Amino acid sequence: MAYVKVKRRELTFAERMYLPAIMKGMALTFKHFVGVGGRKGVTLQYPDEKWELPAFYRGVPSLVKDTAGREKCVACSLCEFVCPPRAISIIPREIEGVVEKAPEVFDIDMLRCIFCGYCEEVCPEEAIFMSKEYEVCGETREELVFDKTRLYEIGSTLGPDGGTPDAEKKWERLSREQSAQGLGED
Ligand code: SF4
Ligand code: SF4
Repeated sequence: MAYVKVKRRELTFAERMYLPAIMKGMALTFKHFVGVGGRKGVTLQYPDEKWELPAFYRGVPSLVKDTAGREKCVACSLCEFVCPPRAISIIPREIEGVVEKAPEVFDIDMLRCIFCGYCEEVCPEEAIFMSKEYEVCGETREELVFDKTRLYEIGSTLGPDGGTPDAEKKWERLSREQSAQGLGED
């Protein structure tokens, strides 16, 4: 079989000493140092300064209540079932009212959570949302298991119904959208 032998270029002495790469790096650092192009400083003074997070950013999962302050979660355990690293633990309790159940215990192990957002996707009640919270720290493993109280605290930063202006149930909205597209009907 015919083949072409490609000869690798020999590196110069300066290239072998990384001098061009070092000069390029120094030039870039100097450019930022003097603020060429009106942009001075690329270092963020964290934690005094915080990043501007994009709208699609997925932080810590959180639980939300409705506008009347009621728990939206009905302890169906779909999120627990779908969670890839098995980070969610739910123990339901029976309640009186329109829905039959609510979570007695709702824990998310933040050492396991991979911020995939599946729990938010699967929830039929729009009760769990990925927040913008990214500061997860603690000194013990137990501290990093976020219980219901902590998850509602984080969720309260999103507002009632997770900040969803139209608090229509997800499955209602999806079936309406599918009907509009002529899908999901036999
Ligand atoms: S974001 Fe993903 S890994 Fe984290 S609790 Fe939700 S489903 Fe589990
Ligand atoms: S958060 Fe949603 S999916 Fe998870 S148990 Fe509650 S209602 Fe079900």
